[in-house]
Parts: sequence; C-alpha cells; structure tokens
Amino acid sequence: MKKMNLESIEKLISKYEKEGLELEPNRKKRSEYMSEVSEYSEQFLDEIHSKKAFINDYTNDGAFENFPFEETPTDTNNIINFLKKNVDRAGINPASGGHIGYIPGGGIYGAAIGDYLAAVMNRYAGVFFATPGAVRIENQIIDWIGDLVGYKQGFGGNLASGGSMANLIAISTARIAKKIKSKDIEISTIYLTKQAHHCVTKALKIVGLHEIQLRYITMDEKYRMNPELLAEQIEKDVSDGLKPFMLVASAGSTDVGAIDPLDKLADIAEKFNLWYHIDGAYGGFFLLCDETKDKLVGINRADSVILDPHKGMFLPYGVGIVMVKNINHLLEANSYDANYMQDTKDYQQEYSPADLSPELSRHFRGLRMWVPMKLHGIAPFRACLSEKIWLTRYFYAKVQELGFEVGPDPELTVAAFRFIPKSGDANEINKKLLSIIHNDGRVFISSTTLDGEFWMRIAVLSFRTHKYHLDIILELLEEGIRDYK
Ligand SMILES: *Cc1c(COP(=O)(O)O)cnc(C)c1O
Repeated sequence: MKKMNLESIEKLISKYEKEGLELEPNRKKRSEYMSEVSEYSEQFLDEIHSKKAFINDYTNDGAFENFPFEETPTDTNNIINFLKKNVDRAGINPASGGHIGYIPGGGIYGAAIGDYLAAVMNRYAGVFFATPGAVRIENQIIDWIGDLVGYKQGFGGNLASGGSMANLIAISTARIAKKIKSKDIEISTIYLTKQAHHCVTKALKIVGLHEIQLRYITMDEKYRMNPELLAEQIEKDVSDGLKPFMLVASAGSTDVGAIDPLDKLADIAEKFNLWYHIDGAYGGFFLLCDETKDKLVGINRADSVILDPHKGMFLPYGVGIVMVKNINHLLEANSYDANYMQDTKDYQQEYSPADLSPELSRHFRGLRMWVPMKLHGIAPFRACLSEKIWLTRYFYAKVQELGFEVGPDPELTVAAFRFIPKSGDANEINKKLLSIIHNDGRVFISSTTLDGEFWMRIAVLSFRTHKYHLDIILELLEEGIRDYK
C-alpha cells in the first residue's frame, strides 16, 4: 500500500462514515418507516377475515427482475407495495383462518412484537455470558415445556427453528447416547410407522444413519403402531444378531393425527433398552387441553420429544422445541471447544443454547414465545386449542350427515373424508371436489392417500379458524356432490 498521510485517511473515514449513516435512520425517519409498516400490518389484519386463504396463481410476471438491488435507497412505500403485490398474495395464506390444510401455522401478533424487540435489541441468545437474561428467558420456556411434558429434574431442551431441526437434534443426540459407531450402522435398527413424518428419515440421512435398518411396524385401523408386532419384530431382530437402537412414535401424525400408544411403547422401549423418541410437533401442545391430554399419557417416558410452537402455540414460523429427558445426552451430542470462547465458561450459571444445539449465533427466538405467553396468559392458548378440537368434531359429524365416508374418529384436529358416488371413479370425483374448494379459495384444505385411495383432509389448527370456515367447506361440498348423488 502506498504510504498515505493521516489527514487523507481521516478524510476517507469521514466520507465513508457519512455514506454509511443511511443504515442508522434517525428518530423522524424511524417513525416514518414505522407508520408505513404499521399501516400495512393494520390493513393486513383488518382484511384478514375477507381475504382468500388460497390464490392459485403461480405465474412469474418478471416483477423481481424489474426490482433489482441497487446502490441507492428505495422508499418504504415502494417496498411495501412490492410485498403486497408480489409476496402477500399468491399461494396459501397461512395467516388466514381459512388455512385448514397440511398443518396450519399461526402468526399471533404478540409474537411479532417479540420478534421486533429481539431484532432491535439484537441480544445474543446463544451464550449465557453474552446475555444472561436472554438465555434465562429461553430456559424459562424450556422449564415450562418440561413441566407440560411431565419431565422431572435433569431434563434439557432447545428452541430450534422448527420441528425438522428439533427432530434432527433429537436423532443426533440418540446416536451419540447409544454410541452407534459407523461399523454398527448397518446392523442397527429403528422402529417407526409409515405415518412418521418424512423429516425423520431426512434427519437420519443428515446424521449419516441412512444405511441403518428401518422397520416400519404395521398399524391398526386408526394408523397407530401395533405394540405386539413391534415387540415381535424387536425380538426377531435381536435373535438375528441385529442391534435395536431407537423407537420413533408419533404424538399426532401429520397425515391423519394418529397418536401411537405412547405408554405401551414406552414399556417396550424400556424392556429392550431403545432410545424412545416421540414426535409431538403437531400434537404435543394438546397436553394443554382436558379433552386430549389423556391421549398423550406416556409422553413423559420418552428419552426425547419435540413440539412445534409455530403450530400448537400459534407462533409465526420459526420455532420448534426439542426436549431431552437427560440433559447430559444433549450436552454430550453438542459439546465443543474453542479457544476464543474461553472467557465464557467462568460466567456460566445456566446452560446456553450453544451447549445444547448445533447453533452458535442465532435469533433470540425465545422472545417471540415469551412475550405472548406473558401478554395473554396461558388460558387463551388452551381455549383456542379446545375450540379447534370441537370444531373438528363438529365437522366430522356434519360431513357424515352430508353422506361422506370418514376416516378414523379424530384424536386431535385432523379428519379425513371422501365421497363415494353411486357410480363413477370415487378418486376422480374427490379430486374434483378438492379443486372446487381450491378454486373458491376462501378456505384451503389438502388431501392424502390412505390405503391407495384419495382422501380430502382438514387440519384445524390456526387460531383464526372458527366455525364459519368449516361451514364454508361443508357448503362447497354439499353443492359439489349434488350431481353425483
Ligand atoms: C410439521 C411436522 C414436522 C416438521 O416440522 P417443521 O416445523 O415443519 O420442520 C415433524 N413432525 C410432525 C408430526 C409434524 O407435524
């Protein structure tokens, strides 16, 4: 580098400082931003009940190409208008109560406040030393979840970004805890059903266990794992010289809402010394409700369990919780050493997320859950889930009155149904009925294949879904089958 005098260095610093100040809007500018942002979010919320849940439009009109990143600023107004037109329109609207497909998410406003504050403060929630308060907030949530699940002292947990990540953390923990070495992989076995969420096999692949032996256990008529057949399979595997490793149960399967016999499976897992993992991403928070909590008995016996607050606690997407009965396993699976982190250990009074998960720097995601839990109390969450249970039961009864065939009695808030016409191809006709609902767009539901047949299904979990949304589906169905009766 050419030698420069100090004066010209200072000039350059001052020039860049001035240019960079664009990133530090002053109070007036901030309130201009905020008034436009809040005008949009208010309009969004005012209109949410009349907006479509699904807009079937996947055309690309080149809007993004025509709105490239530039060196210079863009008005908030332009940005918001762009989002309105090009993001907050086509596809599924998960904030709508009309979203009754797949497993709906939420988007409660209190969580947005938490996210906003977390981002403005930008407190470092990965390590206790950096922000003890942020880590304590997350640990307070983990303690509450531990209570809910029924764990006693000694458990640990982590707020991950979603259910898939939470399952991944549980599975990598199981592998370390059960000491599955690479030479053991091909002779180790995992037990699950065809209802297990696909992110379980994805996680196995990610942790290098894809060559493990998968044992899909036969289910009963309600799509629940048959414990006798499970025990038989394990005994056979043992006598064949294999190493039974892990049992994965569903506490509310995504597809049909099936709950495996959790307590009976716990007996078997104990007997054969398996790691017992329960996927409660969808169903876990039904522990909050009197109507459903007994169906989840045995969940406290799992070595690990996951729950998705962005489903059952109605948070915006981005939080899934993994709980591990013995925190030492979680610590062992995620332990690390780094010279440059040496200062942090002296101050540690509580475990940090970085000790318990693959992440280091991360969003302070605890706040988006903590703020609404404080702001509203727990009672309305409970009530909202109970409402969804009764709405599902209402729909299940009504759709049968219309002459539809139904799947198993809903355990939670998923129900499958299909119309069997006097003549013609039932699958084709049900696909047509689904497309009528999709084209209408006020509500969105999805479909599945059960025993080779096409079924429509509802999954009632958005906090904004109320009785009128289910009545819309019933009306559309009644109208749709008129010609086939
Ligand atoms: C949604 C879901 C998952 C995946 O969770 P994400 O938060 O979407 O990653 C896993 N298991 C079950 C049972 C689910 O319903």
